[in-house]
Order: sequence, then C-alpha cells, then structure tokens
Amino acid sequence: MAAQPPFTIEQFYKFMNEGRLMAGRCLNCGKIHLPPRPLCDRCLSKDFEWTSLPNLGKLMAYTIIHVAPVQFQASAPYLIGVVRLDNGLKIPGMIRNASSEQIKIGMSLSMILEPCSSTLRWPQWPRYYFKPHEILASSQSA
Ligand SMILES: [Zn+2]
Repeated sequence: MAAQPPFTIEQFYKFMNEGRLMAGRCLNCGKIHLPPRPLCDRCLSKDFEWTSLPNLGKLMAYTIIHVAPVQFQASAPYLIGVVRLDNGLKIPGMIRNASSEQIKIGMSLSMILEPCSSTLRWPQWPRYYFKPHEILASSQSA
C-alpha cells in the first residue's frame, strides 16, 4: 500500500490550504474522523486512508453569537450552525452571507474554505465557513 500523508491536524490544514476538505477514514470499521486522529475511537484501528468530504450539507441547528471571543468580536453578532454534510458527517461552523431572518433549519449550505491570510502570524491555520447554497435552478421558472 502506498504511504499516506500522516493523519495529523497539520496535514488536515495543509489539505485545506490547498482547497481540499479531507478527513481520515478508518479502513477497519469505516468511521470518518474529522479532524483526523491516529487511532480510531470506535475500533482502535490505526489503519486509515484520506478521504475527501462533500462541501454541501444541510443545516441541523444554529445559534446567534452576540458575545464573541476576542478574535471574532468584529464579526458579532454572527451565526454558528451544525451542518450535516452529504456523507452524514456533522460539523460545526460559522455561517456567513445569511441574516437570522434568512436562516432556516434544513436549508442547504455550501462549505467555503478560506486559505490563511499572510498577514497573520504563524501558525496560520486556514479556516472554513458556510454560506447558503445558491440553487441556480430556483431563478428559472419551472
Ligand atoms: Zn475504526
């Protein structure tokens, strides 16, 4: 078997900086770990492969943050949601480009990867956020 990049958070961010959302999938039981980890918490296997994740999901829950941690104070109030990706994985993230009036449970969201800014100090972790998925077909008459 070909050697895989290590299943570390650093490698996860490296992929993300390349615009790829990747997670570690256990070769023994199939559980997907995001972020990746070196040991499966379901079956204790150490055999993994990198798998790409869909960047589309549905909003399951959300909350509005008014009192933000220091690094996000400029964005407050903002929306934080839990999104179920199309492969079933649930991940939390910030939701942008949507007001609290527009946001609805079950709406489709796209995940946007945001490469790190060169103005920040190392380590410069890339980030991701969600925004409403624009369904092109909805602008056309049925
Ligand atoms: Zn496993």
